[in-house]
Amino acid sequence: MFIAHIPAGYLVASWLHKRGVVAGGLFAACIIGSVFPDIDLLYFYLIDGKSHHHHSYWIHYPVLWLSLSLLSAAWYILSGRRTAALLALAFCANAFLHIMLDGIVGDIWLFAPWIDRHYALATVSPGFSPWWLNFILHWSFLFELLITGLAASIWTRRNKLRRTIVPQSKDRP
Ligand SMILES: [Zn+2]
Repeated sequence: MFIAHIPAGYLVASWLHKRGVVAGGLFAACIIGSVFPDIDLLYFYLIDGKSHHHHSYWIHYPVLWLSLSLLSAAWYILSGRRTAALLALAFCANAFLHIMLDGIVGDIWLFAPWIDRHYALATVSPGFSPWWLNFILHWSFLFELLITGLAASIWTRRNKLRRTIVPQSKDRP
């Protein structure tokens, strides 16, 4: 997935907010979590010398983020719904969603560390150069455009709404 991770995190945060989940930092937790696993690209380029697929690093293991999401959910319930636990859950669940979205065409190590094999929902055939053009011309990129377009339209609507609400609240005595 190229462009839709952050928009996907924004959509999750908007969805939660619309359902009454309100907490300072909720949008930030969802959005940062939605892109956080790709921090391993620093290791991939600067240390590993591009010698392994970055999805094979432990930070891209689904079980890591699924476990952390479950632990955060338990913390949230047992702590009497503490905001910190909610933000941890939002962060980890969005990181898990990141891995699942990567798995549409991006080869993920679904059962790592137990099975060293990668899976993808669809295969992108090589044919164009540079390599990333193959992904952009693949049908799955329409899905990315759909997520991004939806997030952009919600963001625009929310901003428009905020601009109309703020002047009214300033007018109050
Ligand atoms: Zn990724």
